[in-house]
Amino acid sequence: MPDNIVIQDFEPHEHDHGHCMADALREAERVCAHRGERFTPLRRTVFELLWSSHKPVKAYDLLAQLAVTHDRPAPPTVYRTLDFLQEAGLVHKLESLNAYIGCGEPGRRHQGQFMICEDCGVVAELDDEVLTAMIDTNARKIGFKVNDETIEISGLCRQCQ
Ligand SMILES: [Zn+2]
Ligand SMILES: [Zn+2]
Ligand SMILES: [Zn+2]
Repeated sequence: MPDNIVIQDFEPHEHDHGHCMADALREAERVCAHRGERFTPLRRTVFELLWSSHKPVKAYDLLAQLAVTHDRPAPPTVYRTLDFLQEAGLVHKLESLNAYIGCGEPGRRHQGQFMICEDCGVVAELDDEVLTAMIDTNARKIGFKVNDETIEISGLCRQCQ
């Protein structure tokens, strides 16, 4: 694998997810500190819920989960928290599913390519800088200004094929 490609090559169905979660929390704390922002309890809770698996979470499911475990934060507060996490590069929004997923590589700015399993819902993130650069170059050729170059690919994961 060339080192300009970052790929989450894990077996999402059988691995120590506590490890993923611990790494993600450590990175999130680092990113917030670096931005001079606080990783508030609500930000942490939302982040942990998004990292509870490698499957994306819809905002209304998040609200439902927060209503059970927390004192029902107002939806705009939760949406602001999601915006913050997205802005900080800690989570990605998958438009095709209208759902959010934690980023495995938040230290580096990227938009990423997402392989979404249609069967089990697991999402693997791939960040290929060459692909991103190619999109930029081709867009420039036709005078197109790119705002978002997140790519969402659907298919079947190793387990579900
Ligand atoms: Zn995991
Ligand atoms: Zn990412
Ligand atoms: Zn699958």
